[in-house]
Amino acid sequence: MIISQPMAPSLYSVRMRASLHGQHLAGAERIVDEAAVIEASSALVARAMDASHSPADEIHCRVERIETTEVVYQRLPDVSTYQVDDWQQGRLAAAWLLANAGIQKDIATRAVELLADGAGPDGAVMRGAVLMDAKTGARLEGDPSRGVRVSRMDLVPENRQFIEQLMLSKELGHHRILEALVLAGKVLSAPGIVAELCWSDDPSYITGYVADSQNGYQRISELKQTGDMSGGRVFFVDLSKTSIAELVEYLEGRVILFNACGMISPPEKWLSDDE
Ligand code: AMP
Repeated sequence: MIISQPMAPSLYSVRMRASLHGQHLAGAERIVDEAAVIEASSALVARAMDASHSPADEIHCRVERIETTEVVYQRLPDVSTYQVDDWQQGRLAAAWLLANAGIQKDIATRAVELLADGAGPDGAVMRGAVLMDAKTGARLEGDPSRGVRVSRMDLVPENRQFIEQLMLSKELGHHRILEALVLAGKVLSAPGIVAELCWSDDPSYITGYVADSQNGYQRISELKQTGDMSGGRVFFVDLSKTSIAELVEYLEGRVILFNACGMISPPEKWLSDDE
């Protein structure tokens, strides 16, 4: 008699992107067990229809099975939080943290200004991230309107509840923080990445971060004023360590699941004299 081995449950990537009047409005994704596909899809669609902003007029939801052999497991980056006095100090702190990660100060400052001015054509917010040469500051992404969109990453389904509870206990419970941490974790593990700068284009969300592999995910309490629609992401790339094709293939295609938290430090006041 042949007894078949129990198969590991299939994993699915569930992706949502929503637009309003032809403009990108929201995007999010999850990687879940087969049994959670319907719940995850409806939660993502509900987010696009959220009454706190204008509901989307077009929503695309895509569900794809993932081969479990493709999955790479990692630990989330360490998390620290800097409280700044205002957004101006926050932007100086961001440039300082980028310089600390090895980016020349003028390139770091230029990246901060780029997000403030709008990195897309005509100063629009991009749908994805800018790729910036860490040594020269040159833009490397093929499409300056779309940029590069990082995809196919999430928490391991079995550990999600534990990690969410832990983040909640450190007052980091909002799904926005965990999603950004997961994204930053994947970005930092990509070939040739030196650092990342991010703040949201959501006018009500003013906290952003700088991430690098030495110091992890460093939140900065204010990187813009409430009401400011600017935002975006810049990934700084060391071209001596990767090619654009290899990097983009990793960011878009490689499946990364995070199974544990890094160290989470309590918030501290930003005190660098070298602002
Ligand atoms: P959010 O934190 O979702 O408000 O996103 C802030 C900015 O980051 C957006 O305006 C995009 O420019 C960029 N972005 C959002 N999602 C991604 C992604 N998956 N990959 C790369 N860049 C992204």
